[in-house]
Amino acid sequence: MQNMGNAGDYLIALDDGHGLGTAGKRTPYIPSIGRRIRENKFNERVTIFLKMELERCGFRTLLTAPTDADTPLKARTDAANSLGADALISNHFNAFDGKFDGSGNDPEGHSIHVYYNDSADRRLAEHIAKYLKQGTKQVYRGIIEQNLHMTREFNGPAVLVENGFLDNEREALLMINEDFQRETGREQALGVCDFFGVPYVAAGNPGNGGTTPISDVPGSGDVVGKRVESIYRGAEGLDFYSRPTFDDTYRVGILKYGYGFPTIVRTLKVEGADMYEVKNSRGYVFYVTASPKYVKVVGRG
Ligand SMILES: [Zn+2]
Repeated sequence: MQNMGNAGDYLIALDDGHGLGTAGKRTPYIPSIGRRIRENKFNERVTIFLKMELERCGFRTLLTAPTDADTPLKARTDAANSLGADALISNHFNAFDGKFDGSGNDPEGHSIHVYYNDSADRRLAEHIAKYLKQGTKQVYRGIIEQNLHMTREFNGPAVLVENGFLDNEREALLMINEDFQRETGREQALGVCDFFGVPYVAAGNPGNGGTTPISDVPGSGDVVGKRVESIYRGAEGLDFYSRPTFDDTYRVGILKYGYGFPTIVRTLKVEGADMYEVKNSRGYVFYVTASPKYVKVVGRG
């Protein structure tokens, strides 16, 4: 029998590339959606999904840049090094000439970047590459040795993944495709599990961390199937979570005023408060407060 490691022994540092405002890191204008996409829109989402995957498998995680601000690269590697992170994964979208040149004329594909002659970086990259090649068809550009701050300054095994090209229209649209974001997070998590010799826990399994006691709220069936949206006007927005908890570790996003989820699945009693289990338009499950102070239920269901 293979000797399996204990995921809880490992802290994985997750880095989402740039802040939202970084100049230049955007796709060209995309006519089919009428706008450009910022690189961080993708980096941030895939990092959150990777975080959810790794935590389900029992790993501890650290976000090197937990806010939308542009956190300096040195602050990111300092945080990961000082907490003794066991590996670091930085997610990006590549850029070439900043314009679309028509189908077949733009660079394309994903690559994994490591520091020079770093066997630990390379070994982590090889494990991740094995899975990253699966799923959505992309050109695999290989493991590339390069002098980058994140892989050079982090003490342990580190990889920087370029998941596609901002200036390739087909790949640019993958940036806002939730299935692609989730697939990328899952593939990277599979590679991390392999690297540490830890069993991967697929979605739908309880994993090692789902211990919060929860129960259904009786008599709350009339909201099932209805839409819930935020009525909270605070600039920071309303948090929602990947698990039935109010623990920040599992916060995966925010709802601004008027934004919400199309379908309430059920109402749960969580840590003494009511919480809705909801689905987004793609059928993915999240959790958000059910307090009428912060949300309202709309529609007939
Ligand atoms: Zn980048």
